[in-house]
Amino acid sequence: MVEEDQDEWMSYATAGYGGAVDPWDDLVPVEPEENEDEDIDDDDIFDDEVPSLRDLDAPPCPAPMGIRHVIRLGCCDYCLSRIGGRLNEDGLSPEVHGSRIREEAISRDPALSEIEETYCPFCEDLFQDIENIVIRIIREIGDVEFSSLQMGYHISKELIEEEDYLRKRFGARGANPLKSSFSTAVENALKEKLGGVDFVKESPDVMILVDSLTLRVKAEIRPIFYYGRYRKLAKDVPQTRWPCRACKGRDGGCESCEGTGLQYRDSVQDLIGEPIREALSAEDTSFHGMGREDIDVRCLGRGRPFVVEVKKPKIRSIDFEQILKQIGLGAEDKVEVDSLRLSNRSEVARIKETKAEKSYRIRFQVGGEIPEDSESKILELTGVILEQRTPKRVAHRRSDLVRKRQVISVENVLIEENEIQFDVRCQSGTYVKEMVHSDDGRTTPSVAEILESECSVLWLDVIEIHAE
Ligand SMILES: [Zn+2]
Ligand SMILES: [Zn+2]
Repeated sequence: MVEEDQDEWMSYATAGYGGAVDPWDDLVPVEPEENEDEDIDDDDIFDDEVPSLRDLDAPPCPAPMGIRHVIRLGCCDYCLSRIGGRLNEDGLSPEVHGSRIREEAISRDPALSEIEETYCPFCEDLFQDIENIVIRIIREIGDVEFSSLQMGYHISKELIEEEDYLRKRFGARGANPLKSSFSTAVENALKEKLGGVDFVKESPDVMILVDSLTLRVKAEIRPIFYYGRYRKLAKDVPQTRWPCRACKGRDGGCESCEGTGLQYRDSVQDLIGEPIREALSAEDTSFHGMGREDIDVRCLGRGRPFVVEVKKPKIRSIDFEQILKQIGLGAEDKVEVDSLRLSNRSEVARIKETKAEKSYRIRFQVGGEIPEDSESKILELTGVILEQRTPKRVAHRRSDLVRKRQVISVENVLIEENEIQFDVRCQSGTYVKEMVHSDDGRTTPSVAEILESECSVLWLDVIEIHAE
């Protein structure tokens, strides 16, 4: 595939599901030539005849003189059927129906039998290519599993315009335009070969693009999406694949990543996505989480909602029980998923936009004596609005701002020797570690501030993400 084609194709493929859009409609703009008649070679008598016939007056089909005229223009049997305006009561194939119309016309005017079927001006012989196109489509799909197809056709603007002119002038009123007739013909022929396939206008399993000019066919396997919630039980597991810092994951990795291209061998994305990718013979996955926890933070409770996007799957039916078992085997003690269901691209947007409150359990060490009223002081953080300047640890990738976030509730304060632990529920986007250690006064108020002691965080767990 030529690089340029790939880009053109991908820019369409990533544009989302757009209904019955013909992605090639606005490509190949063909300007009608203005001085058409002057360009004709005088020696070419045949070419000279066509424009004169084309411009002759004749009644529209289904009048016998109209049918006679379109036959003289070179109309093929298929187009005779679709523009001839004669009922196809016996449900014949268009070709057979068209040839009946032609036979009738010849019986009225035997001279018509001498008209050579040269080149149909109504379709430029497109309908003769149907079988060839269907073969190419089936070859292009290969062994990919699908139940629905969305078709896109590119027909040159020049032909569309010429056909429109001729059909409106000589064809029966209400006759189907070329493009819809052509798509119906391709789809009927495909149904015959493939059996139960749905032709849809959006969210297909496979998208097929047919270029009528070159007969080039492209099949794009659309991604499949699954929704679930994950619990992350281990630290040092990033949510998404994290490329090696040294080699950036290029050229098959380097020494420091032992050829994996990864900074961390495991990620939630791959622990969940790889068994699915393998089961579906897919190319790759993308992972979309409802926010993400720091690499050293566990995520417990009901887990974090996510959608995994599986790219170019050759198989589309999945046994959820089986795949959950596979994930469990590979991700033991690191990641857990209880259930999966089918999802879609719009749910990705939904979970990306959801600002869910979260509950955390945090444990920290206090430098020096723990004041007696520590518990009540910590509980008083309930309802407080924190002002959080961008933490030092993320300042390299986020602009320096002051964020206001509310602490919804604090409970279960536990004091053991010089360590304190509590549960806190707060607004989405709260920097929880900073709420405890204050980040050198950049978060205020903070536990360190109210206890007037240095506090260093031992660990942090997400214990609930309050999303439905
Ligand atoms: Zn035709
Ligand atoms: Zn590396």
